[in-house]
Amino acid sequence: MAEIQLHNTLSGKVEPFVPQNKGEVRMYTCGPTVYDYAHIGNYRTFVFQDILRRFLKLRGFQMKHVMNLTDVDDRIIVNAAAARKSIREYTEKFVQAFFDDCKTLSIEAPEHWIRATDHIPEMVSLIQRLQSNSFTYPGEGSIYYRIAKFPNYGKLSKIDLTGIQVGARVDNDRYEKESARDFALWKAPKPGEHFWETAIGPGRPGWHIECSAMAMKYLGETLDIHTGGIDLAFPHHENEIAQSEAATGKPFARYWLHAEHLLVEGEKMSKSLGNFFTLRDLFAKGYKPSALRLCLSSTPYRRQLNFTFAGLTQATNTIERLRNFADRLQTGKFPAGNQEGMAARIAKAAEEFDAGLSDDLNTARALAAVFDLVREGNIAMDKGEFRQGGVGGIQQFLATFDKVFAVLEDNDAAKLQALGFGSAEAGLSDADIEKLVADRNAAKKKRDFAAADRIRKELADRGIILEDAKDGSVRWKRK
Ligand SMILES: [Zn+2]
Repeated sequence: MAEIQLHNTLSGKVEPFVPQNKGEVRMYTCGPTVYDYAHIGNYRTFVFQDILRRFLKLRGFQMKHVMNLTDVDDRIIVNAAAARKSIREYTEKFVQAFFDDCKTLSIEAPEHWIRATDHIPEMVSLIQRLQSNSFTYPGEGSIYYRIAKFPNYGKLSKIDLTGIQVGARVDNDRYEKESARDFALWKAPKPGEHFWETAIGPGRPGWHIECSAMAMKYLGETLDIHTGGIDLAFPHHENEIAQSEAATGKPFARYWLHAEHLLVEGEKMSKSLGNFFTLRDLFAKGYKPSALRLCLSSTPYRRQLNFTFAGLTQATNTIERLRNFADRLQTGKFPAGNQEGMAARIAKAAEEFDAGLSDDLNTARALAAVFDLVREGNIAMDKGEFRQGGVGGIQQFLATFDKVFAVLEDNDAAKLQALGFGSAEAGLSDADIEKLVADRNAAKKKRDFAAADRIRKELADRGIILEDAKDGSVRWKRK
């Protein structure tokens, strides 16, 4: 197996990955702020983290993975008050939606899924440590972090703060500060706002202190990996480092991994452009969870991902091809014996798959190894050259592939139903159905009965019944 190499934002380099404790990875992931449904840009990052986690598990590491849910911030407080609900009541719906979305995208649950509001005491005691080290100063009931006292500030994002004038906004805090660079650790309550009564006064935590306190509680003072979207590197992760390292005097995280942005059809995603999508928006259009997962994971995480509907359709077709091939292996009748060179060919694909993922999680390279083998396998089957002896090896390879990519199991219809998309034929136009019927006829003509049956099942799952007439024609109707 290849040595695992990961790009570390802190060093700006690709480095060999070696955790502190042999065989164990302590990883922290900034989770969503649960004031709304997360969008596909968020899920690009969460799917990347899942691929990373699954690959590390495949390579035998025991994961200690924490993901937080930010369930207190300005927007949540405002929205909850407007809805006349407690913070917990208001966020509950979006927390549940996030869990459901993750399940639908086959994102594994981390070992700890935790909420900020359950960790106020840990945040308070971390702020007290910073107070005793003189890294803080008070202001109108709030407590601020004094960046000027932390000389390494900027080491992660390499941002040069010398040009930032006092009064400029580098953070969302709407409070008075000594320097524009400083940020709030603790925010005084505003009239009518929810607050906690604590040893450092009444108020609520700033966003950054949440992650430092929660990460260190579950993972110790030095983490192996900290991940997030690239937009979090500054100021959020920079502030996490400043707080944690000022309190402990130890490095906070050894590897920082950041996923690049997602564009939609070449443009920045925004509600005003009408190109803003949650998972549910796409499922309502009839797209499958597995296709979306493949689409989000197929571009390596450090490259910008240009999400397009053409790409999503292509991913849908790719999944069909993979599943059809797996079915062909399972149900096909092949002559006994071994096809010459097949064992070596499978070993080469497995090696390339591992090398791709070890290469800073180059998912495109790993997937190419899979697609190449599937294409060659299909050709060998079509020509009648494929032998039974190759079945087990390829099945094992596909199982390994699926431990990381998790798209082979044919469970999209069930997942969509669980999410409330009961009428799964929604989005399937007459033309779509005719196209699938024609595909099935073509598959039958090629005597690819596995593919034909799969299409029949897919249509049935989406409420379409096929009737094969004696003359060979096919009629369809909606259930
Ligand atoms: Zn965070």
